[in-house]
Amino acid sequence: MRRMLKDKRALVTGSTSGIGLAVARALAAEGAEVILNGLGDPGEIARLCDELGALYNGANLMDAAAIATMMGEIGPIDILVNNAGMQHVAAIEAFPADKWDSILALNLTAAFHTTRLAVPRMKERGWGRIINTASAHSAVASPFKSAYVAAKHGLAGFTKTIALELATHGITANCISPGYVWTPLVENQIPDTMAARGMTREEVMNDILLAKQPTKQFIAPEDVAALAVFLCTPAARGITGASYAIDGGWTAE
Ligand code: NAD
Repeated sequence: MRRMLKDKRALVTGSTSGIGLAVARALAAEGAEVILNGLGDPGEIARLCDELGALYNGANLMDAAAIATMMGEIGPIDILVNNAGMQHVAAIEAFPADKWDSILALNLTAAFHTTRLAVPRMKERGWGRIINTASAHSAVASPFKSAYVAAKHGLAGFTKTIALELATHGITANCISPGYVWTPLVENQIPDTMAARGMTREEVMNDILLAKQPTKQFIAPEDVAALAVFLCTPAARGITGASYAIDGGWTAE
């Protein structure tokens, strides 16, 4: 059977782990040539490249010049998944200014740079898919996550803006907005949340994280990836400027 994305090239940022890796696997399974990006152990990344038949570019996405170099090196792409992200949990008066800068750079500004550099070629080809991994936190807030919530709200606004600009060029731009997905990003915020709220690990898991999700289940990275693949299908050509919640009912409340 012909694979749907056989002629497409896809850059998935932050794809050495978690959601990005699941998206990269799903796009590769549909025949796309995938370019991985992200941090990690070189041996493990080489193994992933072998597994997916993927290329890799390790640009630090907090650095605008490094992004420009990466976009030049990897050549034209048809699918851009802006997914790299990080979190920091602290009360506003204790929130480290350097963490604010890093989170805004990685979770928001990097998407601006990759997008502005990918769009000219997408316009030439009259086809493009821009998929931004936002979050339930692009629509609602939680305490102690000021930088993350600000960046994700910004990403949602950015996505709507470019959707309007690109609407007549065959290029769609959408957000996927997951609730809690069990990945290192979530696991790593548990100790800081324990400290910020004076809770045990179990209390953070059940009373903070899963308390948000009426289903009481973490979202599977593969389910987020399936949504990203759907947004690349012909049936999704009319979907642009949208944000798809995949959050176990969190933002329905
Ligand atoms: P993760 O920590 O598993 O993966 C983050 C990826 O970003 C990794 O590949 C990492 O190497 C990469 N990365 C980190 N710093 C980088 C840098 N400076 N330059 C390039 N790459 C860098 O996290 P995840 O949970 O898979 O998160 C992926 C995206 O999904 C993020 O944007 C996150 O905000 C979003 N998200 C996650 C959840 C969740 O519950 N896990 C929920 C909603 C949204």
